Amino acid sequence: MKFCRFSPIGSSSTQPASALYGLLEGDRVRDVTGPPWSAWSEGSRSWPAAEVRLLAPVEPGKIVCVGRNYAAHAAELGNEVPKEPLIFLKPPSAIIGPGEPIVLTPQSQRVEHEGELALIVGKRCSQLKDSDDALSYLFGYSCLNDVTARDLQKSDVQFTRAKGFDTFCPVGPHIETELDPADLLVETHVNGASRQSGRTSLMTYPVALLVRWISRVMTLFPGDLIATGTPAGVGPLVAGDVVEISVGGVGVLRNPVQAPHT
Ligand code: ZN
Repeated sequence: MKFCRFSPIGSSSTQPASALYGLLEGDRVRDVTGPPWSAWSEGSRSWPAAEVRLLAPVEPGKIVCVGRNYAAHAAELGNEVPKEPLIFLKPPSAIIGPGEPIVLTPQSQRVEHEGELALIVGKRCSQLKDSDDALSYLFGYSCLNDVTARDLQKSDVQFTRAKGFDTFCPVGPHIETELDPADLLVETHVNGASRQSGRTSLMTYPVALLVRWISRVMTLFPGDLIATGTPAGVGPLVAGDVVEISVGGVGVLRNPVQAPHT
């Protein structure tokens, strides 16, 4: 199933359109009551997909990211493959949805794309055992761009500022619930040109291991996001670019890039 968050276009000129969770059914979107990872039911309304604006499909309590999870990407930045998963957090305030602009910052001269498979947690989990079925705690999968101010990541040493600017976490366009994450193609295109291409089978630490490992550090709650790391080929974004992250079986997340606010 494909779930989204959306607001109907032009439903009222005076009232700002509200955000709804929805179920994509062919070329229509049906409203669902409540977040789809909790108890939900189908609503009574539906819209043509062309008459809704898709929003980021999740509003997570936290975004856990995995660094250097593809050996070729670790190598291109001159890093070793970590001996256990390397995790960091991105603030939920960085999230934007499909079509929304990534806004550059005057604090950085080098902002880069990182196309990634995103996991959406479906059930609260903590201290998962090796024998637990980690994938059963996931609700679904989406595309994520872990936008990074590479110069600040190097100069700050830790990642909070480099990864945390507003708009530096595009996610979407929707959540696919029926997917095997073992061998998906993850690609990034900028202005139509291929920049990154890798398969999730090349991850040093695969999805189930990541979920188990993170759950032993912090409790994961429904709706939390996990970004699973980026393949080789990261590169700069400049104002006017259009960046597309695609994950096989999910779809394409497309965002324009804008100059800093003045
Ligand atoms: Zn990343």
